[in-house]
Amino acid sequence: MSKAQRQETAAVPAKAHYIDGGWVADQGGAWREVVNPATGQTIAQMPIAGAAEVDRAVVAARRAFPAWRDLGAQRRADLLRAAGRLVAERRDAIGRAMTSEQGKPLNEAVGEVDKLAKTFAFYAEEAVRIHGSTIPNDEAGFASVVEKEPIGVAAAIAPWNYPAELIGWKLGAGLAAGCTLVVKPSEWTPLTAVGIFECLHDAGLPPGVANLIGGDGGTGQALVSHPDIDKIAFTGSQAVGEQIFRTMGGIKSVSLELGGTCPLIVAPSADLSAAVKGAARRGFRNMGQVCIAINRIYVHRPLYARFVEELVAAVRKLRIDDGLADPAADLGPMTNAEGLAKVEAHVRDALEKGAKLGCGGGRPADRPIGHFYEPTVLSDCTPEMLVMHAETFGPVVGVAPYDNLDEAIASANDSPYGLAAYAYARDVGEIFALSRRLSFGSVAINNVDAGTINAPYGGRRKSGIGYEHGREGLEGYLVLKHVRIRHGG
Ligand code: NAD
Repeated sequence: MSKAQRQETAAVPAKAHYIDGGWVADQGGAWREVVNPATGQTIAQMPIAGAAEVDRAVVAARRAFPAWRDLGAQRRADLLRAAGRLVAERRDAIGRAMTSEQGKPLNEAVGEVDKLAKTFAFYAEEAVRIHGSTIPNDEAGFASVVEKEPIGVAAAIAPWNYPAELIGWKLGAGLAAGCTLVVKPSEWTPLTAVGIFECLHDAGLPPGVANLIGGDGGTGQALVSHPDIDKIAFTGSQAVGEQIFRTMGGIKSVSLELGGTCPLIVAPSADLSAAVKGAARRGFRNMGQVCIAINRIYVHRPLYARFVEELVAAVRKLRIDDGLADPAADLGPMTNAEGLAKVEAHVRDALEKGAKLGCGGGRPADRPIGHFYEPTVLSDCTPEMLVMHAETFGPVVGVAPYDNLDEAIASANDSPYGLAAYAYARDVGEIFALSRRLSFGSVAINNVDAGTINAPYGGRRKSGIGYEHGREGLEGYLVLKHVRIRHGG
């Protein structure tokens, strides 16, 4: 499309990148359309930052670092609190931007914005509790002091499925620690990021402390391989995480929060109704586009037929709609056509290999426009089906029966991924066996909300390294310094 056509079809926002305390609009380079996945309409045309803008942002962050580090934790906390208040005040506007570019229903989007505000408040509290330790020395007249210092300039890269929270965890922890940041949101959800940075700007964050560069994978690659980056905080797919590890160049601290394929075990003692409710929520919320979505379900054989029947009934009740027109809908469209094609391929693969279709299995007949797909339950699944071992990242769960709990735990653990696992059980022995033996970064028992902001969140094996959330998330932005003093006293 030519530049002239581009101007006609949708707005070119005046706010695209935020560098050194100011908004930067179109620089005349590459750009991409932001499309509402419910309607197919182009809602904005965002410029893509090239290497020059990336470099300007990193230079600004480096320049701002010493003053931000030395500002003092109380002042940093005050600024984070102020930003959190503005996020809360603007929840509707940021939520609307999110729904219109990502697709999740408005009420859910606003809920995510509220969680971002709480993240800033949480890390404001943590900022003032960063302290080191003293270590006794054997020799008289010596003292060892261990101090914690911010690591420097962090590159923060996020995906599109939680476009506010996944930026917010990095901003909250990084700013509290005293780091400066360059943030690159997903190319699918740039408008949510602009709304967040407007809050940081209006809260009075000093120039250069947090910078925003819009763009795609090329922009991200230029950022992670920039020689003046000290830390990379990446959330996204396993393939891109591995690529970053291989190509980042230089010695950099890195945290990778990657994909998963998360199991749910329904144990012999499970409360079946609670397990059905949990599976319907965590399998399908945000159209299954959740790194910790339930993908594969193992049910004790005596409960199996009833579980499948009740899950299908619960999933049939989920209301799918355009989430701007119907803010309280359960589900919106998927975010993009690539994701929808992957879902179709996984469902086809399972059916070809003998799975039974409980519900869904196609695009809703009454929604020819938009990336809608019916929530789908597949039963009698076997391990070689893609839904049982690869990340579908869509509104599909595969269900299989098992005969004893050891077998179920072995099936759950038999994966190169290790992000989150879920289980329903009432017997205390089963609860302990499940919580101890499931090898995942998060294990949720009798609930399906595996993450809370004040507890560590991270993956094992191919699901990544490092942690976000909690004090552990903050520690990732800090380095230790051992000072050994011969004071002679
Ligand atoms: P993605 O890996 O395609 O993209 C993520 C981000 O990386 C985007 O901003 C993208 O522009 C950027 N990027 C792409 N190529 C890059 C490169 N070579 N160098 C640097 N940056 C690059 O992932 P996605 O499709 O946006 O998100 C879905 C994936 O994210 C799923 O696999 C999901 O499981 C994962 N995810 C993980 C977590 C977690 O906490 N573990 C949370 C949410 C999503």
